[in-house]
Amino acid sequence: MRVLVPVKRVVDYNVKIRIKSDQSGVDIAGLKMSMNPFDEIATEEAIRLKERGVASEIVAVSMGEAKCQETLRTALAMGADRAILVETAVELQPLAVAKLLKAIVAREQPGLVLMGKQAIDDDSNQTAQMLAGLLGWPQATFASKIEIGDGTATVGREVDEGIETIRVRLPAVISVDLRLNEPRYASLPNIMKAKKKPIDTLTPEALGVDPTPRLDYLRVEEPPKRKAGVKVGSVQELVAKLKGEAGVI
Ligand code: AMP
Repeated sequence: MRVLVPVKRVVDYNVKIRIKSDQSGVDIAGLKMSMNPFDEIATEEAIRLKERGVASEIVAVSMGEAKCQETLRTALAMGADRAILVETAVELQPLAVAKLLKAIVAREQPGLVLMGKQAIDDDSNQTAQMLAGLLGWPQATFASKIEIGDGTATVGREVDEGIETIRVRLPAVISVDLRLNEPRYASLPNIMKAKKKPIDTLTPEALGVDPTPRLDYLRVEEPPKRKAGVKVGSVQELVAKLKGEAGVI
């Protein structure tokens, strides 16, 4: 079974981001970029499926500017077999990514698309669901456990009340949550080997997809600053403040 793993290049999760002075978005100039952490988890899971003999080939795909190649090289160094870059200067929103992925699914015929539940830059949590809808495939989102059986996947899903277990027929789209696994670091020899693995470059036009954004960002704002707290001297003072000032008891 071929597994397709979409990996997004995002601002590294350790970086403290700044909003542009005209509030049009986040200033990413010169910031450290990395693979979206949920996509690292999806890549790791695909590699484990291959190590168990369930997956035969792992294809990583990234969409955006040419620098997404770096993200694909990381996936290849972790253990993906080959990669596809869909290169475009257009800002890609989830619907465009889902349409592009649908076109790649038609070319690659994977048995499973394993992807992040969410990109940590736009926090959309939409692409997997849209892709499953466009393909007419079953979806299992927020996976914290995946078992592949005979033509099916049994997936533990993180929901508010705990873990919900569902079974979906393959081919399917599965989006992964934080607790599924701990992604491996690529070893130096594997980083060197990854340099020789193939990356195919395509464009939205070649895939017959119009990636034009459908949504406009009106304004991006910082959350309000938290007010400083106060230290109380005694339990009596605390109770008095909770009653008098906060009005919560
Ligand atoms: P989102 O719906 O934007 O929160 O993203 C969910 C998932 O879709 C991500 O974790 C990736 O697996 C995939 N994805 C979104 N945008 C891209 C992109 N530009 N290139 C590759 N994969 C993407």
